[in-house]
Amino acid sequence: MEILGAPYDLAGQRVVATASVGVVERPVPDGTPTELVKDADATLYWAKTDGRARWAFYDPERIASQMTRQVLATTMRPALERGEFVVEYQPLVGLQGGRAEAELLGVEALVRWQHPQFGKLSPDRFISIAEDTGAIVPLGRWVLETACAQASDWLERFPDSPLYVSVNLAARQFRDSDVVADVAEVLGTTGLPARLLQLELTESAFMAPAGRPLEGLHALAAMGVRIAIDDFGTGYSNLAYLSRLPVHVLKLAGSFVEGFHDTVAGGEAVDEQIVSALVQLAHTLGLTVTAEGVESELQAGLLRATGCDSAQGWHFGRASAPGEIDRLLERGA
Ligand code: C2E
Ligand code: MG
Ligand code: MG
Repeated sequence: MEILGAPYDLAGQRVVATASVGVVERPVPDGTPTELVKDADATLYWAKTDGRARWAFYDPERIASQMTRQVLATTMRPALERGEFVVEYQPLVGLQGGRAEAELLGVEALVRWQHPQFGKLSPDRFISIAEDTGAIVPLGRWVLETACAQASDWLERFPDSPLYVSVNLAARQFRDSDVVADVAEVLGTTGLPARLLQLELTESAFMAPAGRPLEGLHALAAMGVRIAIDDFGTGYSNLAYLSRLPVHVLKLAGSFVEGFHDTVAGGEAVDEQIVSALVQLAHTLGLTVTAEGVESELQAGLLRATGCDSAQGWHFGRASAPGEIDRLLERGA
């Protein structure tokens, strides 16, 4: 690389060329020359994507994850048609109701891929792939339909405890499809009242440069659908700007609550103070606050003291099949 990196003199022009190198080291009897060259080529490609003018070593795990990604990307749409995706529901509970037990207010719909070969895949494994390939558009629409139909079914069977359903939307669904029309249609066909639907967008989706999401958000809010900012605090968005958008709910990222611990030992409760201030500010701006990632009784108690409206987390319940929510509703009734 040093030798190749030196400038060349080409017909009086000084030319600099760099090289990228892929290195595969393995015993000769293991595999064929074709495989070796193929792996070396893939490794060379990593050296390029990692920034060029460098060398990379072959890494079987990286190859495997790349292949899995490739396989998942190409099989996602047919898998959706074969019905391999399922939606699980995680409780969203009220904190300020004054009852000893947290009150079930709604559920977040979280998609999983029941893969025949790899088992149940979490969305972290395939949502970003779906966003890259565009499969998020049909997948997201399917989740919306499924979740609204489920919430409408709960409303019919438990009319005294109406649950809202919160559905995640990807920025690409605004860009590449008519989300507003889809939501209107799904509410119409499932019969779910708009006030029982909440849509979650991440900060980055709100900050997307295109003007489409903004118009769409206004149209959705006008329909009576609630809009939530998901994972607030993980990006760089500005609360003053966000409050001017048609947003109703702030979902605080789990990292805030993660810092809540016992301060009897004399530590400073900085994270609680930050959350208290955020909650006050959000309330001033007319937003309600849901905290994510509440895993313990202690965290739940400290959170309640900050004035936070509602919460979600393993302490209150994991994402589960709809039957689990049925049981909670039956118990509540
Ligand atoms: P999210 O929307 O922030 O969802 C919350 C995630 O936190 C879920 O992970 C949930 O299982 C997890 N979680 C809940 N309580 C706790 C807790 O107490 N502790 C910890 N450590 N984690 C907790 P999950 O189901 O793996 O989903 C990951 C992400 O995938 C979601 O984050 C969301 O961004 C995305 N996602 C899921 N379903 C969909 C979908 O239908 N469409 C789109 N666009 N994205 C989705
Ligand atoms: Mg979410
Ligand atoms: Mg979240």
